[in-house]
Amino acid sequence: MQTFHHPERSCVACRAKRDKSELLRVVRSPQGAVSLDLSGRAPGRGAYVCQSAACLESALTTKKLARALRVDLNDETGADLCLAFAECEGVETCGRN
Ligand SMILES: [Zn+2]
Repeated sequence: MQTFHHPERSCVACRAKRDKSELLRVVRSPQGAVSLDLSGRAPGRGAYVCQSAACLESALTTKKLARALRVDLNDETGADLCLAFAECEGVETCGRN
């Protein structure tokens, strides 16, 4: 077995550095669609956020996510991301605290 180095990424919202597996990847596909990339390998430009609804919301409201992905994120896309996020195990729902 080969030893793989653990790729570290930082959350676009709080800038915390974490192992890639501890972050959720949001990807902008080559077609321009923004979605949550659960495989972590979807083609396109990716940005990472903690597995935390607070970080996702902050990434959306501060437009850090939009900036990282170099895309315009509308409210609808933001809401879709929140929904997809909420379906991930261990992630609390957006805006319910
Ligand atoms: Zn974070």
